[in-house]
Amino acid sequence: MSVRAAVDRLLKEPADAWDAAGRIPVDVLRDLGRAGVLCAQVPAEHGGPGLSSVDNGDLTAAVGVHCGSVRSVMTAQGMAAWTVARHTDERTRAAVLPRLVDGTLVGVGFSEPAAGSDLSTIATTVRRDGDEIVVDGGKVWVTGALYADLLLVFGTDGPRGAAVLVPTSAAGVTVTAAPPPLGCRAAGHAHVTFDAVRVPADLLVAGAAPLAWLVTSALTYGRLSVAWGCVGILRACREAAVRHARDREQFGRPIAGHQLVARHLANLWTGEQTALRACEHASRGWDDGSTGVFADAVLAKYVAADAAARGAAAAVQVLASAGVPDTTVVARAYRDAKLMEIIEGSTEICQTMLAEHALAVTE
Ligand code: FAD
Repeated sequence: MSVRAAVDRLLKEPADAWDAAGRIPVDVLRDLGRAGVLCAQVPAEHGGPGLSSVDNGDLTAAVGVHCGSVRSVMTAQGMAAWTVARHTDERTRAAVLPRLVDGTLVGVGFSEPAAGSDLSTIATTVRRDGDEIVVDGGKVWVTGALYADLLLVFGTDGPRGAAVLVPTSAAGVTVTAAPPPLGCRAAGHAHVTFDAVRVPADLLVAGAAPLAWLVTSALTYGRLSVAWGCVGILRACREAAVRHARDREQFGRPIAGHQLVARHLANLWTGEQTALRACEHASRGWDDGSTGVFADAVLAKYVAADAAARGAAAAVQVLASAGVPDTTVVARAYRDAKLMEIIEGSTEICQTMLAEHALAVTE
């Protein structure tokens, strides 16, 4: 099945019911994985759709319109695939990437109880011991971990960084569901511990690399994916708000005719278009191999998450009581959008990086 056909099928699925249940049927995710939707930039030579970043972004936004939880799983899987593509040799790429488009599901673990925004304090160790890699430590809030067959685990090996793929079925791995989250409730978040877990050395994705470089490279993909997902949130909110404002009459006219309501619609359109342009710019830079893509991805994520949080709040305001039931599109968007300001570099961390960028590029 093509990626577009798989997404069209997804659009018929009950994302609101998944959100309420806190669970996506795993077969739905495996089917999306087999169609290549979850990591659509994996090249054809490794069995993937080989989409450009721009086209994958468009796909991510389409998924994001319908279901923030599936989009979250998609971001994790794409980030894992990108990290493998970026940091391994051809033998490893040829062994691992086809698995990531065969229905195998993967989560990504950076965060730890004491390492949130500051990932330089990661304490999980990923050490080589002969033909094996030994993993000790724990990760928190790993998106998709409740569904995952594999986890891409970031850790340290002495003073250097490392990343390894760990099967969730490996001895010593414990996956515990995270508390029910505010938003993206069906994204399968879990906390994971690794107790002297041993995996074959050929699952090492990166060893003896600078940790900051390793993490930043993975997060650049993640930020761009989250930003495109926010475009989806904004599109869903704009459509719901416009339709409601056209249909709902108060004071003898459709509420769209009241200027303060129209302002909400204008702001929603502006937020969506601004986020879309920032995403397109960053993705074009990714596709062209621009060295500016790191900063452009931060900019896109910051702009899009901010716009999504504001836009979702505006959409709830326009629908008012009609938007308040917990499973409406705008209520889900409102809850999901708040999380977008926290993950993959919080709003404050993005602002800090953008300030550093401004200082660096200004004479
Ligand atoms: P903290 O780092 O404790 O920050 C708390 C507050 O302080 C924030 O507002 C932050 O912006 C601010 N702050 C911190 N440092 C600074 C600073 N220097 N300057 C200004 N402000 C600062 N992690 C994974 O590894 N994999 C996943 O798949 C994953 N998925 C997630 C999904 C969800 C729904 C959530 C909620 C989290 C997920 N995370 C995941 C973890 C996420 O990456 C972290 O929550 C995030 O990095 C922030 O860390 P923290 O929550 O510990 O907040």
